[in-house]
Amino acid sequence: LNPKNTQDRTALITGSGRGIGKETAIMLARQVENIVVCSRTKNEINEVVKDIEEINDQVNIIGTKCDVSISSQVNSLVRSAVDRFGSESIDILVNNAGVAFDKKLVDTSEDEWDQTIDTNLKGAFLITKAILSHMIKRESGTILNINSGAGKAGFSDLSSYCASKFGLAGLAESLAIEVDMYNIRVMTIFLGQVATKMWQYYDYNYYEKNKNKMLSPKKASAKIVEMILDVKKYKNGDSVEMYNP
Ligand code: NAP
Repeated sequence: LNPKNTQDRTALITGSGRGIGKETAIMLARQVENIVVCSRTKNEINEVVKDIEEINDQVNIIGTKCDVSISSQVNSLVRSAVDRFGSESIDILVNNAGVAFDKKLVDTSEDEWDQTIDTNLKGAFLITKAILSHMIKRESGTILNINSGAGKAGFSDLSSYCASKFGLAGLAESLAIEVDMYNIRVMTIFLGQVATKMWQYYDYNYYEKNKNKMLSPKKASAKIVEMILDVKKYKNGDSVEMYNP
């Protein structure tokens, strides 16, 4: 193994233990030399690592626990990737980790509000900040933020999630302007309902009734990977809306 070959590319996907993040990591693992998968649930990450190894035994993998809302964990994750794969290889970041609570604002606790904003918005800030200096140095990189229709319009019982996703859209638009001179692409995908555990936790009955009408995680991830890899078609600042299966 020669993980520090400067031609190698490293992709880091947050919240990749299940759902859209897992599918995206598995698809990207066929395309890059190094992959970093993380979430708060170690056994789910271990499963993803196994799945990736079965698909491509040439890819170098870091699979580890990381809560994106905690700066010390984020910084230590990025340090491990840089130590193992080299700072010049960090090329792709997918800000995917996310949580949602199905609550009216009056019933939302301070802890639920904090968890939502700290994961969906602050988490993206922390990991983007930790990686960006490496991308700026090598004047290349792709950051793709996984957003939602709830990042474009408000929904009842979803105010904390909408606030986090509107914020994430603002972060992406601003950063795209800031890094344009460095050949870095900051892009967003706004997704409709995707049949993942997020929906099962959010509203199980609705999920059971409607899962066949939702986007599949595979279809959403295929578009995410296309946006990352097709540098001619998808430019810095671009966003895609994908609402229907
Ligand atoms: P999911 O199946 O619940 O997966 C979410 C992933 O994020 C899990 O691996 C989870 O693992 C991880 N995660 C949550 N909090 C984290 C934290 N603090 N630190 C690190 N990882 C964390 O949900 P999904 O539907 O795939 O969601 C992925 C992204 O798509 C989210 O940003 C979501 O907002 C967005 N999205 C989803 C839909 C939809 O309908 N499902 C629609 C539009 C956008 P742990 O809990 O183990 O940490």
